[in-house]
Amino acid sequence: MKRLVGIDLGGTSIRAAVATGPASYDQERRAHRDTPATDGPEAVLGACAEAAIEAAGGAPDGIAIGIPGPLDPRSGIVFAAPHLKGWEGVPAQRLLEQAAGCPVAIHNDSNLAGYAEWVAGTGQGTRNFIFVIAGTGIGGALVVDGELYSGAAGTAAEVGHTPCGLDGPVCGQGHRGCLEGMASGSAIANRTKVAIASGEPSSLRDRGGDITTAIVAEAARAGDDLARRIFADAGRALGRAFGGLINVFGPDAIAIGGGLVNTADLLMPPLKAAIGELAFAVAAQHCRVEPAALGPDAGLVGAVAWAVRRFPD
Ligand SMILES: [Zn+2]
Repeated sequence: MKRLVGIDLGGTSIRAAVATGPASYDQERRAHRDTPATDGPEAVLGACAEAAIEAAGGAPDGIAIGIPGPLDPRSGIVFAAPHLKGWEGVPAQRLLEQAAGCPVAIHNDSNLAGYAEWVAGTGQGTRNFIFVIAGTGIGGALVVDGELYSGAAGTAAEVGHTPCGLDGPVCGQGHRGCLEGMASGSAIANRTKVAIASGEPSSLRDRGGDITTAIVAEAARAGDDLARRIFADAGRALGRAFGGLINVFGPDAIAIGGGLVNTADLLMPPLKAAIGELAFAVAAQHCRVEPAALGPDAGLVGAVAWAVRRFPD
């Protein structure tokens, strides 16, 4: 087998691993670097090349890398990467090919995490699959008829910015009424803070600015009415967005990953109840909605799997 390397590039760390199969890597052959996030694209991709060469024990035969921002996997250009300084219109594929001395495939990090879930996780065995990953924001991936779908500009599958209402809190991109503004980790914490500031009673009143999704979840489980309502709203927003996606794509399965998995007990009941508000019944019956299976490792597994897919023997 060729020496193929997957790289998960994050805002704080770079992880590289050598493929051993369609969606597996060698635990003994991994390398790590801190991301020089403020030093510009050439420094970051230089560190990625170093990690790949160290993991492979020499020049790799091919690299796939997941990058946190909108990009075009065909042209190899990254349009933006909000957590990395100076990444606008960066020819990342060409720069990494020069630094590592081998062919490179770039893709969005959430797309690759979803690809991993499709090959080896909750989406295994499906032809049509939607992956939704939530943390500070909400990203995702679409597999349409057995292929990872990128759309005309390469930036498709931004399921976090699916409309779920005419109005609502502003998301990280400044939209009103999209899923991310209601159901991301930041949205759950922010909506709680706004409600408390407007005088709503809650056991969280004395927490001040120290309110996170995990703290709101704890309060909801303990019976706090405000926290329960915030999670019910987030779950309903997810369910309505999924209902619309089910009508458009008719997927076999939708997997929810990232921080959402930790609060699945609170989100899943209102989520599943709300799918039917918009989805056609037959399409909804054909679609499983389940937590993602691979956890925080999905990004690296996906990069490895994409390297195997793009650079076959
Ligand atoms: Zn949005």
